Amino acid sequence: ALSRKSHTTVLEVDLDAMTHNLNYFRSHLRPGVRLVAMVKAASYGAGDFEVAQLLQHQGVDYLAVAFADEGVLLRERGITMPVVVLNADADSFDAMAANRLEPEIYSLRSLHEFAAAVERYGEQRYPIHVKLDTGMHRLGFVEEELPALLDALARCGRTVRVASVFAHFCTSDDPAQDDFTRLQIARFDRMSSRIAEALPYPVLRHTANSAAIERFPEAQYDMCRLGLGLYGFGFEHNAALRPVSTLRTRIVQIKRLAPTETVGYGRAGVLSRPTVTATVPIGYADGLDRHLGCGAWSMRVKGRPAPIVGRVCMDSCMIDVTDIDGVAEGDEAVVFSPAAGNTPEAMAEVLGTIPYEILTSVAGRVKRIYL
Ligand code: PLP
Repeated sequence: ALSRKSHTTVLEVDLDAMTHNLNYFRSHLRPGVRLVAMVKAASYGAGDFEVAQLLQHQGVDYLAVAFADEGVLLRERGITMPVVVLNADADSFDAMAANRLEPEIYSLRSLHEFAAAVERYGEQRYPIHVKLDTGMHRLGFVEEELPALLDALARCGRTVRVASVFAHFCTSDDPAQDDFTRLQIARFDRMSSRIAEALPYPVLRHTANSAAIERFPEAQYDMCRLGLGLYGFGFEHNAALRPVSTLRTRIVQIKRLAPTETVGYGRAGVLSRPTVTATVPIGYADGLDRHLGCGAWSMRVKGRPAPIVGRVCMDSCMIDVTDIDGVAEGDEAVVFSPAAGNTPEAMAEVLGTIPYEILTSVAGRVKRIYL
């Protein structure tokens, strides 16, 4: 394992915190309800393989990725548990069949194309996951399409087997729109029962994401899909959860500047007093959004706020450490962490986005380190 000191900018991932979060959500599941863990987009930025390994070890029932490549990588690294690919496209169906990856089937076209790939591989009763559209209107079968779907499933009943039917909520984290979530539950209930009753074998039903696990226990059905909660973010800043990620860098140079000087591109870092700046090797190519420049975001040095001075560069930026005593080159600067005011949620607020985007924006070149 590489030590933290051998890297300058690292995303530190606390796997104990993740296990804690997993157990927290498990304790909210009704007896017998299974769990899909979302590890798409390199586990919401936390790493493409290590998180999956932990979840396999923890006995989670399924992993879910967005694209076939993500699933193939997991197989290459020794993940043997069931993996669902949510946004599979036909070009990847052969690779999926070869790697025992299970597709989300969202249209008759995707069903027929996948069944053809399974036949090419000489497989039988290959597990698929049928996606229903209960109001998200992204992917999936609407109610009127169910008769045609059931016909098609009956015709390829030897090739594929429906392991689960599922849908996705669009507002399960928004109490102001609970009526819509209830409407989605009612639609899911009706549509998924119709499929389950028509098939001659048992089928798992699932529609709840993290927020719904906590807020709509009646929507847990046979399985739930846990994403953001696993990474430590719950409904309304749930303090029972532990955020898993800390983004750290190190000061590589310190400068003492007169107020007549400016900092960085466009001379946008205007100084109002004699200023001590510290240069840190993290820039927008590492996922540090340019809109965080010019004081919009503060890192933490020795636990104190150090605002970004001037514009964020591609590979670095400068922070103001004037008011922090004893700062030296080599000292750590914390970009985000679980500490109050320094969290990915706070950063998301500054940027007008959601923690999901902050977490998944940490670039691949930033080393992941596991605690
Ligand atoms: N299910 C599907 C189909 C998703 O796309 C996602 C996340 O985007 C999830 C479940 C997990 O949602 P959350 O991260 O809010 O738990």
